[in-house]
Amino acid sequence: MEIFPLWYGLIVFFVIGACVGSFYNVVVYRMPRGISLINPPSHCPLCKKRIPLYLNLPIVGWLILRGKSACCKQPISPIYPIGEALCGLLGALALFSTNYFVGMTGNVADWASALAMFWLLLGIYPVCAVDFKYKLIPDTISVGGIVAGLLISLFPGGVTPLESLIGAVGAGGGLFLLGWVASKVLKKEAMGFGDVKLLAGYGALMGFTGAIEVLVVAAVLGIVVMLPWGKFHKGDGSGQIPFGPFLAVAAPVIFLWGETLLELYVRFVLGE
Ligand SMILES: [Zn+2]
Repeated sequence: MEIFPLWYGLIVFFVIGACVGSFYNVVVYRMPRGISLINPPSHCPLCKKRIPLYLNLPIVGWLILRGKSACCKQPISPIYPIGEALCGLLGALALFSTNYFVGMTGNVADWASALAMFWLLLGIYPVCAVDFKYKLIPDTISVGGIVAGLLISLFPGGVTPLESLIGAVGAGGGLFLLGWVASKVLKKEAMGFGDVKLLAGYGALMGFTGAIEVLVVAAVLGIVVMLPWGKFHKGDGSGQIPFGPFLAVAAPVIFLWGETLLELYVRFVLGE
């Protein structure tokens, strides 16, 4: 860390995270109601008055208003600023964990890593929320991940653009083939295309090996979590288990500790 002190970076990442959280609030409110994300501009859901920009600031707006809307004095749920604060903490955690576990020396590649980590951590919530409820993964996250991965690979020092491309195509294509074979064997759809695009995004961010590790850890997590769940929900299971949330949780773990986990695996399981 040479460009500016860590505490300053943490504040910046917190603020950006809180803004993402504020955007999630808008998405969660508007999407199920079929309202466009941009139009109409931010307005009070009760009296339809426009909300001025400064009162829309994440966390701060709610605090200024002390939890009551400026226009009609109706209470605003604290779930909104809490969600924004949690996203802010996740943003700060992205920089903190990258600095702590990967080590930031102040060069551009480290900031690219911190950005990738930011993307991975803040992607967990929308993937889980949408996949559990609607059994799909938002393209903004999956296809967005491919784009973000390719862009971040342009920074020198980390995954190269070629590795990023191979990671996206290899991991996505591989999972697609796997799902295709499984669906032929099981005679039902085994893998959603959303999972394929999501893993392709992780391939673009971490390269092919990283994406395969994400897949393995996600599968293990899935089995560990879903086996007891299946026991409790005998019979009523639709058989459809969302796989996206497990991928989304595994991704930042592998991003930080992928190499360490691989070394441990080689040493203790393969005994080499
Ligand atoms: Zn109002």
